[in-house]
Amino acid sequence: MIVVMAPGAGEDQIKEVTSRLELMGLSVHRSSGEERTVLGAVGDPGGVDFEDIRRLPGVRDVVKITVPFKLVSRVFQPETTVIKVGKAEIGGQRIALMAGPCSVESEEQTFQVAESVARQGGGFLRGGAFKPRTSPYTFQGLGEEGLSILRRAADQHGLAVVTEVLDVSQVPMVERYADMLQIGARNMQNFPLLREVGRSKKPVLLKRGMSATIEEWLLAAEYVLSSGNRQVALCERGIRTFETYTRNTLDLSSVPVVQQLSHLPIVVDPSHATGLRDKVGPMARAAVAAGADGLMVEVHPQPERALSDGAQSLDLAHFEDMVRRCRAVAETVGRTL
Ligand code: PEP
Ligand code: MN
Repeated sequence: MIVVMAPGAGEDQIKEVTSRLELMGLSVHRSSGEERTVLGAVGDPGGVDFEDIRRLPGVRDVVKITVPFKLVSRVFQPETTVIKVGKAEIGGQRIALMAGPCSVESEEQTFQVAESVARQGGGFLRGGAFKPRTSPYTFQGLGEEGLSILRRAADQHGLAVVTEVLDVSQVPMVERYADMLQIGARNMQNFPLLREVGRSKKPVLLKRGMSATIEEWLLAAEYVLSSGNRQVALCERGIRTFETYTRNTLDLSSVPVVQQLSHLPIVVDPSHATGLRDKVGPMARAAVAAGADGLMVEVHPQPERALSDGAQSLDLAHFEDMVRRCRAVAETVGRTL
């Protein structure tokens, strides 16, 4: 249930409504926008008398939410969430640019990419130190050493670090190095991990599971928000379909769908979505045209030598070209990049 307070509602009125809802066994999540406060009451609304709440002083409206997700819903918070990470932002007018190697492999590789990302005006250096590889025999990442390389490369160029955390036990370590915690597609429904990053102070980038519906994805985000962390950005990275030409099928329609249903910003990853380097640029431009709040792309100084995902990685020259062309599209849709 959502309780919309009247624009001039006082703090005492908000407190009164909150305690009445809590007495009914509901947990209350408050969202105070510029104009009004909205209270999201989560729990079993079975015995709740909606009219009783509606009559309380300062209440403008009581809305029953029929979708299963609550805190991520735009009904709960009409304004898009803007996540601020250092100088970078996700969800604002400027489209966030996140780029870097699939895996952190060496200092030289990572610093080279970081320099290019910064030169292109990007805000985030991405890179995996713990890799969720399909085969246990392929490169699994450099672990903590990889995190340290990422941190230093990002600091040298004024970038924020976004990197994947694979399991609950790694959260404290990854938090020490990263500015944003990535939950990978394979972990989208790892509920203990979602709750753990929900208790973190660091923003979360939640990738869509490869066979997840939009509703399942938003419910995964709901786990994070309901654990206390409201700083969540979603990342569309393609879903599995019958099509085999591309690695996944980029579901670009999820951008306007998510933006209608939820206040969380949405980033598009055309690299994992296509698996093909020459398809990354066109799909990145399409994502910008569709209204994405950010782009995440894999970049490697020598893609042919990459230890993971070389086939979809852009070299520095192609990355720079991609950004230039995306910038032109951004302008036509009233955004900057
Ligand atoms: C990644 O971004 O490095 C990654 C493993 O992506 P995904 O979880 O989308 O497969
Ligand atoms: Mn990858």
